[in-house]
Amino acid sequence: MIDPFGRAITYLRLSVTDRCDLRCTYCMPQRMTFLPKKELLTLEELDRLSAAFIRRGIRKLRLTGGEPLVRRDIMWLVERLSRFLGTGELDELTLTTNGTRLAHHAADLARLGVRRINVSLDSLEPETYARITRGGTLAETVRGIDAALDAGIEVKINTVALREDNLEQAVGLAEWAHSRGAGITFIEVMPMGSVEADRLDQFVPLTEVRRRLEERWTLTDTTLRTGGPARYARTDQGGTIGFITPLSHNFCGSCNRIRVTCTGQLFMCLGQTADADLRTPLRAWADDAPLEAAIAAAIERKPKGHDFAIRRSAPPAVERHMSVTGG
Ligand code: SAM
Ligand code: SF4
Repeated sequence: MIDPFGRAITYLRLSVTDRCDLRCTYCMPQRMTFLPKKELLTLEELDRLSAAFIRRGIRKLRLTGGEPLVRRDIMWLVERLSRFLGTGELDELTLTTNGTRLAHHAADLARLGVRRINVSLDSLEPETYARITRGGTLAETVRGIDAALDAGIEVKINTVALREDNLEQAVGLAEWAHSRGAGITFIEVMPMGSVEADRLDQFVPLTEVRRRLEERWTLTDTTLRTGGPARYARTDQGGTIGFITPLSHNFCGSCNRIRVTCTGQLFMCLGQTADADLRTPLRAWADDAPLEAAIAAAIERKPKGHDFAIRRSAPPAVERHMSVTGG
């Protein structure tokens, strides 16, 4: 699939649920309204949809949400999708998770061919972790990370940089990740969906995070790419640190990604409203041709890029929360 700007689309992020067992302050409001369950695609439909995308050229598939591991019977879907690793039609099957249920699933994920996983972790202080996630237990997530590492899965920690909550902990988080043989990627907070806080109070440009890291290490930029938007540097002690900078330095020119929500809505860009309904062709026809035609037509409309900006009291760049589109 080649979009109008010549970009090959090979990476699908598929949200399997909009629900979550946490309520991170930058992601969703305390009283989040979730979709009625009947709106969601069934696991069988998610499998069929994924197969159609893979036939059209998707090589990397990431399950996300919401929290993918809270979806009931999610391992059934992982098992189904793992057949594409066996046939060589997929290069990678992976997940982004908050880690709360990872200890329970890590061994099965490894058995089914998941080689790398992203785990979100924004603080190593139990109280701060509980405050940011509104109720999460740090020890549980750390247990999940350790279980994944023990199962032989490569772990990348995702940390959203937050001015008040974790800027001071950037070096400590990176040291902690590296001590476990994990990488870490810092992410700039994006103005997606309404939350209680003002985005300007949450936002820190990663140039500032990097300055702090450079007080601890000499960082050397690398050409390493993992198929996503992160740009990586290496510390003088060999650890890897990624930077995802949608605000301070956007990466739309090399975008290879599309996202599908748990209701089968295809978003061609994280920061734009352009979408396509895939649930209707999925449900209306047993034959996949109309579904594949809808996918092809949507790729023709992929926008050039987003125009995220963070301003005091500004409305969100897009109304939908990150947990809806899938991170
Ligand atoms: N629940 C899983 C998790 O937290 O890893 C997967 C879904 S979550 C929406 C995916 C990623 O998006 C997480 O790393 C999270 O920190 C990030 N995220 C959520 N809201 C964000 C925002 N407004 N700006 C930047 N990153 C955000
Ligand atoms: Fe849940 Fe992930 Fe959003 Fe946190 S970032 S509320 S864990 S979906």
